[in-house]
Amino acid sequence: MQKITIMLIVLCTSVLTLSAQKTKKEVLKSLDQKSETYGEISQEIWNLAEMGYQEVKSSALLQKTLEEAGFTIETGVAGIPTAFIAEYGSGSPIVAIMGEYDALPGLSQEAVAEKKSAGGAAGHACGHHLFGTASTAAAIATKDWMVANNKQGTIRFYGTPAEEGGSGKVYMVRAGLFDDVDIALHWHPGAQNASNAGAALANKSAKFRFHGFSAHAAAAPEQGRSALDGVEAMNMMVNMMREHVPSDARIHYVITSGGKAPNVVPDFAEVYYYARHAKRDVVIDIFDRIVKAAEGAALGTGTTMDYEMIGGTHELLPNLTLQKVMFDNLTEVGGFDYTPEEREFADKIAKSLGKDQADISVAQNIQPYKTEAKPGGSTDVGDVSFTVPTVGMSAATWVPGTPAHSWQAVAAGGTSIGKKGMMVAAKTLTLTAIDIFSDKKLVDAAKAEFQEKRGADFKYIPLLGDREPALDYRK
Ligand SMILES: [Zn+2]
Repeated sequence: MQKITIMLIVLCTSVLTLSAQKTKKEVLKSLDQKSETYGEISQEIWNLAEMGYQEVKSSALLQKTLEEAGFTIETGVAGIPTAFIAEYGSGSPIVAIMGEYDALPGLSQEAVAEKKSAGGAAGHACGHHLFGTASTAAAIATKDWMVANNKQGTIRFYGTPAEEGGSGKVYMVRAGLFDDVDIALHWHPGAQNASNAGAALANKSAKFRFHGFSAHAAAAPEQGRSALDGVEAMNMMVNMMREHVPSDARIHYVITSGGKAPNVVPDFAEVYYYARHAKRDVVIDIFDRIVKAAEGAALGTGTTMDYEMIGGTHELLPNLTLQKVMFDNLTEVGGFDYTPEEREFADKIAKSLGKDQADISVAQNIQPYKTEAKPGGSTDVGDVSFTVPTVGMSAATWVPGTPAHSWQAVAAGGTSIGKKGMMVAAKTLTLTAIDIFSDKKLVDAAKAEFQEKRGADFKYIPLLGDREPALDYRK
């Protein structure tokens, strides 16, 4: 008898929680109730800190979470083992929420306010553990709202690996996985809460490999041909080229292999290049000239050269119709307060960044709405934004003033500050998805703006060409 009563109570509560997600207010309350669970999931991914295309456990954890919430999972999509799509519902509209979960090499860090390695190979210096988790939370909350309101349509979570240099989404776009999507949503961890028109630099990256002949560097140098000479000659020419490209272009390189010992003429050397600009046509031109410099360097040094495309991403195509809706939702959600402990942590982080104290008001408030942005980095969301109307935002998951890809970002991402910021994003994405499912006119307007901005004669050409996913680019 007691058992039946308990079962009835359980049944009633689950029905209650379901029916309690009819309104936006109830949806937000439900997300608050689940914030601890999502905090634990993000913490687990932060601990794992798996790099691009190696996110086996992180991807599996998000898949499990979505599957338990009633989503069907298709894994290993686009030839990438850690990429997946989780889907609920049927028919249109189809709303996609993207989630990332890759970490950055060399940035292992404990969740403390001083630089201290956690002993790992990588760290979540771009907050992608929060990105993947909050997007998962938003997909599930949207699904619960759809069920409670008997709404028609499809909600999808796109598990998109290797954002950091691996161009994971480009392969997913190239495979046509976004072709039937109506609207795509994303967000990014950051040092402030903002929903402004995004901007990103188009990017092409490649590894240039030079091959020469080894010889004793003192006894028989005339018999050697230095592969490192090839790399250095190439770099010299590219550095001269900087004066003759648009001044807002970016070219950077690291020598990833330069020989093993000074007394051996190196028979192998490798340099890893990025070329970036706000317009992809400029990037394509600069990259072609970098290849010419590599060919010239090989010719002049008596070496041979081949190169492997690693990444290639479009710039970002903003959609202001959706951006304003997301901004209004972010304003409704609002920022958050720091506890005295969080404040103490934040002030220490601020000091490490050369400031007297952290400006907490940035986390408490929302940045004013802007319809234009200056691009800094690159993102493979760019390719998605040229395939389907796309909108994104940032949330204050880091101590205000913290730059991305820093140990300070890893540290805050492993504390309650990161988790609070993450829930701002989860809530805003959910409310925006609800608006999209509720208002066909909004979808139509977003699509009209998208078509106009992209241009009638647009044809998608992936900047990384036809190569297979660079699954080993972090090895
Ligand atoms: Zn990132």
